[in-house]
This record gives sequence, C-alpha cells and structure tokens, in this order.
Amino acid sequence: MSTRPKDPTRCSRCSKKYRGRGDWNSTYKQGICIGLLCPACQTPEENAEAAINEATLDYGRGGFDAFGRQYARSKEGTGR
Ligand SMILES: [Zn+2]
Repeated sequence: MSTRPKDPTRCSRCSKKYRGRGDWNSTYKQGICIGLLCPACQTPEENAEAAINEATLDYGRGGFDAFGRQYARSKEGTGR
C-alpha cells in the first residue's frame, strides 16, 4: 500500500501520469475538480457524468489552477 499523497496529475485509480492528451475525465465534487481518470479506468457511468458536466459547465469561462487542472463555471445565466 502506497502512502504517498495524491498527485493531481495522475489517474486517481491506476496512478498513470496525465500527459495532456487522450480522453481523460476530471472528477468533480461539488463543482471542484478532485482528481483525474484515465480512459482505461472510466466506467460508462462516469463517461455519462462527464458528458453532463460538459453540457452544463462553461469551460470557456473557467480556467486552470496552479496544478494545471481545469475548472469551470456553470452555464446557467449565460443567455445562450
Ligand atoms: Zn487509470
């Protein structure tokens, strides 16, 4: 068992390093990105959740935090 702290640039399940490409999912809890999932570790449910996040969050109005993680604002009230 590893006791290393969580690395925000690695898959939270298999610890594979994120290299900026591929269909990775960000894991959100109450709107805050808490981790990453590599394509191999994503379940169909998690893919569906990511699609919902993409539809309801406006990544263009978000940005990147100090760790290079993406954050987004809700699309509600954009009038589009
Ligand atoms: Zn993984």
